[in-house]
Amino acid sequence: MDKCIFCQISKKDISSFILKENDDFIAFLDIKPHAPGHSLIIPKNHYVNLLEIPESLAENLISIIKDVILIISKSLKTDNFTIGINEGKLAGRLIDHLHIHIIPRFNNDKGGSIHSVVYNPPSQSVEEIYRIIKKYES
Ligand SMILES: [Zn+2]
Repeated sequence: MDKCIFCQISKKDISSFILKENDDFIAFLDIKPHAPGHSLIIPKNHYVNLLEIPESLAENLISIIKDVILIISKSLKTDNFTIGINEGKLAGRLIDHLHIHIIPRFNNDKGGSIHSVVYNPPSQSVEEIYRIIKKYES
């Protein structure tokens, strides 16, 4: 994808502050950080979302997530992180190339837990939701 900024970063057509890379993924500092060390991990090939990622890349994905956590832990002296994906536009995804946010957390950083992202409890019971979900299980 020629116009995809993350494809351009992975091809190094655009420079970035690269922390780590392996055969399938690259990790770099977010240029609009929400915390010191806020990093993004992207697949080197253009995949829009997690469902498109081949299973064969799973090991390298976990590996680079762990690498970034270790790098940030040692250098910025924290072992607290919020890790997440804005999967889809309603979840806030702005660039249609999978990216995983690694956000280091610090004492008194005024951030919340992942639970603070949304509060939209269902009108149905958990059991009803479970039945709806299970009906579509393949
Ligand atoms: Zn892309």
